[in-house]
Amino acid sequence: MDFIPVNEPLLNGNEKKYLCECIDTGWISSEGPFVKEFEQKMSAAVNRKYGIAVSNGTAALEVAVQALGIKEGDEVIMPAFTIISCAMAVTKAGAVPVLVDSDMYTWNMNVHEIEKKITPRTKAIMMVHLYGLPAEADAILELAQKYQLKVIEDAAEMHGQTYKAIPCGSFGEISIFSFYPNKHITTGEGGMVVTDDEELAERCRMLRNLCFRKDARYMHDEISDNYRFTNLQAAVGLAQLERLDEFICRKRDMGKYYTEHFKDVKGLILPIEETSYGKNIYWVYGMVLDKDIQADNKTVQKLLAEEGIGSRTFFWCIHEQPVYQKQGLFADESYPNAEYLARKGFYIPSGLALTREQMDKVIDKVLRVIGSIC
Ligand SMILES: *Cc1c(COP(=O)(O)O)cnc(C)c1O
Repeated sequence: MDFIPVNEPLLNGNEKKYLCECIDTGWISSEGPFVKEFEQKMSAAVNRKYGIAVSNGTAALEVAVQALGIKEGDEVIMPAFTIISCAMAVTKAGAVPVLVDSDMYTWNMNVHEIEKKITPRTKAIMMVHLYGLPAEADAILELAQKYQLKVIEDAAEMHGQTYKAIPCGSFGEISIFSFYPNKHITTGEGGMVVTDDEELAERCRMLRNLCFRKDARYMHDEISDNYRFTNLQAAVGLAQLERLDEFICRKRDMGKYYTEHFKDVKGLILPIEETSYGKNIYWVYGMVLDKDIQADNKTVQKLLAEEGIGSRTFFWCIHEQPVYQKQGLFADESYPNAEYLARKGFYIPSGLALTREQMDKVIDKVLRVIGSIC
């Protein structure tokens, strides 16, 4: 049986050509010329002055949090429903994530719940855009201004997306991207921090590379890590970036096609095609089982796998992560919408290499599986 994987990237542009250039010239490390070119083109694409490429999106979040000077005793507000990377970046710095429940329609943080979570220790809000629709940036930026907070924008899933026609990746002090293979452009592994602040950019460059002292190499004043990004990764990234507009169109077409076929299915809550501030770019095509269905997402994932269809459950909530529960963090906290999404949400094959034929097969199997558990 042909198994349809949940994601397959599309690498049939100039990727091979640029990679061969790396091999032919011997530039394969982080010192190669493609790295600067990719930083420059990525940051320009989102109207930022500086781009600092790093080893992955999680590293980008860690660098961003450290660059802003977030430390022990500080609090950072973020959605309860998001990838662990957001929380880990904060707890690694010794600070505490403060969680906010989700909006059931957009799956992003419910911005009306943020203000009551602000305390004198709050230093920043993490604006995370999830699954394809931008978070409500205006509301978040307004609160940040009112309470003098920094904004870290996690645009890992948002290449090419806009909020009210302004590029995602341009909000707040600092933004990050990931180039993991299920993101709209990939470098295999990879990430980037972008900012307009020269000093922050300089700090990010230091943090990326073990905090080498500028005036004395091999002397280090701070703990950091090796988060460097290679010329090989940048070669792939440049080729991918050339096709970003095409990729966004393709993702939107795929999203519309799936929605057309699922819109009358009882029991499924589908991604919203657009809101007043943005059109979905379907990072992945996610859906949520509604209250009438007893089964959870894991059951559906298993049934789909038996039919030859790859799928993934949604993220698991931060407050329910075993690692944080062991530490006694978030005890007795509950975020009903986030918990619901984590238990009932899943996504189906929606990578850029997916063909129309494969989509038709996915549709057929999803209809069958959902029919069987209704
Ligand atoms: C993928 C992702 C990350 C982490 O990126 P990696 O490159 O996998 O480390 C961070 N935040 C969000 C919202 C993501 O989707």
